[in-house]
Amino acid sequence: MGVPFIRAGGKPLAVKVQIDGATLEGELSAGKSNLTRLSGRLSGKIRLNCDICLSVYERDLDENIEALISDGVYKGDGEEVSEAVIEQSGFIDLEEILRGEIASIECDYHRCDSCQKR
Ligand SMILES: [Zn+2]
Repeated sequence: MGVPFIRAGGKPLAVKVQIDGATLEGELSAGKSNLTRLSGRLSGKIRLNCDICLSVYERDLDENIEALISDGVYKGDGEEVSEAVIEQSGFIDLEEILRGEIASIECDYHRCDSCQKR
């Protein structure tokens, strides 16, 4: 699903995407330097592999997501731009952003509940 960039003066847009049990819900609004700002919250559940006993378990998600999204055209050298997610398609792919958030959580070190109690 692609949504258009929100430019200066554009109205904020409420967005919501889901992948499996994870949900990203929030608002896109016009940011600085022609960037679009995503302000949202990650909720739901994600399945993880415990790094100790290798069992699959579910973890609740509850995180705030703040991101700046660039259309790839802006060539500024501001700090905002170097931090920004770059979209080349002309649209914002929120599923891709959610997938990226899930992937970065999956890369962390995990312990299931019973291993945490050891
Ligand atoms: Zn475990």
